[in-house]
Amino acid sequence: MKRILLLHTGGTISMSTDQTTGDVRPSSENPLHHYRHLFGEAVHVKAEDLFQLPSPHITLKEMTAMKERIERAVEADEADGIVLTHGTDTLEETAYFLDLTLHASIPVVLTGAMRPADSIGADGLLNLQAAVWTAMSEEAADKGVLVVMNEEIHAARHVTKTHTTNVATFRTPTFGPIGILAKNHVHFFQKLVEREHFPVDTIRHTVPLLKAYAGMESQLLEAVFQMKPDGLVIEALGAGNLPPAVLPSLKKFLENDLPVVLVSRAFNGIAQDIYDYEGGGRQLKQAGVIFAPGLSGPKARIKLLILLEQTKDPKEMANCFE
Ligand code: ASP
Repeated sequence: MKRILLLHTGGTISMSTDQTTGDVRPSSENPLHHYRHLFGEAVHVKAEDLFQLPSPHITLKEMTAMKERIERAVEADEADGIVLTHGTDTLEETAYFLDLTLHASIPVVLTGAMRPADSIGADGLLNLQAAVWTAMSEEAADKGVLVVMNEEIHAARHVTKTHTTNVATFRTPTFGPIGILAKNHVHFFQKLVEREHFPVDTIRHTVPLLKAYAGMESQLLEAVFQMKPDGLVIEALGAGNLPPAVLPSLKKFLENDLPVVLVSRAFNGIAQDIYDYEGGGRQLKQAGVIFAPGLSGPKARIKLLILLEQTKDPKEMANCFE
């Protein structure tokens, strides 16, 4: 019999609706505890409430606590697979943090819900069941941390929430899901080419994330520089370009050896140094900006926070991103 450790951290999947006001909020008791029968005879599910937090309350501290709990479970051979329930707003960040820092060969699967447990068409139980089936699957091992939502299996690195309310919200732009669930059967049809692992236990740095826009003001970068951050991530325009007005402030970061990582604000495709004009990607790269092809802004931020624990060497850092 497979053993699954089910770790709850909060989110809509464990919230209910106030019948008078219609507001959605955490309930005193996690409603998911009533549904253990869903998983049948082939699996023993041990559930534990790690937190009961809406995911906008999740920080790197909670992500690190999740990692520690999973590592303890792996070390003590507590389970054959791990499922985490999590609010969907920041689920992709936790998933990627765990993907980069965990050294676990057993399946680790995150899931959540778009609709509260007591609403019509609630998706939580289906997602939870699908996540457990996936975590039980031999094939799910060694694929990195997975996100299972709406009968699709996504790799943590690229998955993102794309819709505020629709149950088909989690998508992997450009690359697509790596598997699906069909009538309770788990099917994988691709795998990431390479995996990365950074053995990091604590995150002590600060990395803000900015999004570029037409007419972006240099004062914004100046204000961020005054925060004394340890690095910066910018979601740049198109293939990886910035308005010239921000260049003098950007230079300040680089002159102070603060890594600046560039991704594209475009939903599909990858950031590249193509354009050779003022603020164009080619010139940014020559000035020392690091390109993070294929990552979203929030994911690049998580990776930079992790890398900062390991190196301050710009070349090494650039290699890890590019
Ligand atoms: N706001 C909720 C959260 O992230 C959304 C959800 O869980 O779906 O906690």
